[in-house]
Amino acid sequence: MLLDLPEQFTPEKKAYLTDLRTKIILHISVQHDHKKLITFLPKAGIINIEDTEKKVYLGFANEFALTQAKKLFNKSLKEAIHELYNPQFDLEYLIYPPFSNGSQLLIDLKKILNIKDTPPKEPVEKEIKSELSSYFGILFDPNFRFDNFIAGANNQFAYEAAKAVAENPGTAYNPLFIYGNVGLGKTHLMQAIGNEITLNDAKKVAIYLPATKLVEEIVQALRQNKMNTLMRKFDDVDALLIDDIQFLADKDKTQEVFHNIFNDFHMKKKQVIISSDRPPKELLHIEPRLKSRFSLWLVADIHAPDLETRIAILEAKLDAKQESIDFELLSLLAQHIKTNVRELEGALNILLTRKKLSGREVSEDDVYACLQTLGYTGGNRLSTEEVSSQNKKSEQSFDTIVEMVANYYALSVAELKSSSRKQEVSTARQVLMLLAKKYFKRTLEKIGEYFGGKNHATAIYAISNIEKKLKSPTEETLQHDYQVFVEWIEQ
Ligand code: ADP
Ligand code: MG
Repeated sequence: MLLDLPEQFTPEKKAYLTDLRTKIILHISVQHDHKKLITFLPKAGIINIEDTEKKVYLGFANEFALTQAKKLFNKSLKEAIHELYNPQFDLEYLIYPPFSNGSQLLIDLKKILNIKDTPPKEPVEKEIKSELSSYFGILFDPNFRFDNFIAGANNQFAYEAAKAVAENPGTAYNPLFIYGNVGLGKTHLMQAIGNEITLNDAKKVAIYLPATKLVEEIVQALRQNKMNTLMRKFDDVDALLIDDIQFLADKDKTQEVFHNIFNDFHMKKKQVIISSDRPPKELLHIEPRLKSRFSLWLVADIHAPDLETRIAILEAKLDAKQESIDFELLSLLAQHIKTNVRELEGALNILLTRKKLSGREVSEDDVYACLQTLGYTGGNRLSTEEVSSQNKKSEQSFDTIVEMVANYYALSVAELKSSSRKQEVSTARQVLMLLAKKYFKRTLEKIGEYFGGKNHATAIYAISNIEKKLKSPTEETLQHDYQVFVEWIEQ
């Protein structure tokens, strides 16, 4: 019945709910990345407030949107309602199908967050004034910027460090070493640093050199006996960015020259940023003295993004192209392509090309066909055995699940690990104990220990208690929640 209510509301009530929604969004926008809000809270609104039940009802276009919102923003939404409306009120999440056509909601959300649809002004080539920036024939690519880089738990530290370096080259985080597997955004971040430095101060000279290019320059200089000329090129450089340093392997002479360049930069307190596909100590055939220096640098790693970040990246790429693809299909794509953003982007481009050629919207079959082309599924939809074998490989750590569950129930991790016997705390704790045993193969001792030094008998009691509840017909909400958590683990 609730679902039909908004149509019957008076204009005043509608205006009030809309206004409250605006305030709530502004409130939570302080804590959350705006791109994440746009991606995961696009078609959501307040559909009613029930004073007798003390509940605020939030509506979402579909199950996926509801679950993501609860997972990512439950705690913040609750706090916002308590602060802006009434601390006595609780939140209720409902699927509200009319919102799936609610594009106005998204437009409003963008307005509230002051997000413009047109991409921000790109750095114009001539603004990169110094001839030196193109000394090596390489300019920064204006498409790689901070504002179109999605930050997530997988790259947060590298992202923050890169931003700090871009704002104050040579002071904060110097030198900086960024590493991560291929296709995870290292080059994007380095280019963003270069773009930002030259944009902030046209007098500053930043130079980007793939390590292979550095090798080429050095070999040529040696051959033509022009080493001094080459070294002088670096004199006026304020920030030196060398990409993919692993390619210096076995290039002894280049390593030596680089070592000299680096010492010079270090002495003059000029910024150096290096990327690599592995951590310093795993670099092969790189001079030990160079390697040990890298280890002393600020080292920031980038991991594979989680599902939400992958979807947010796809959304950002679509936005930049002013294109759209059904949200559920994007998430299907992101569920399969997990470890390489470049491939994820490649898949998106395949889908967009198909869309253009066929003149119709992308379908689920298109997504599966594309996955097959890229060798992801053999064209088959995943069988249950495949899903479960993939699950075993899942690197989702237990800590992350604990954090996600805490957020889902608007509790803190500390509370879960405390001896609090509050109903909601102990239910969440018991659910986690069961998950720890079933999916993370933890021993009962370890489980007890993890949750605040409880003994293994407590863990046994907790697990059998929650298993019983999960079978009870009156515990539908708990069963639903448990299913959601299992899906997170199996993702
Ligand atoms: P790497 O240098 O680590 O191999 P790239 O920087 O070339 O990876 O990234 C591959 C592609 O993925 C690029 O098009 C880049 O824009 C995109 N990409 C990777 N991570 C992100 C991110 N967090 N947000 C937006 N785009 C990303
Ligand atoms: Mg790269």
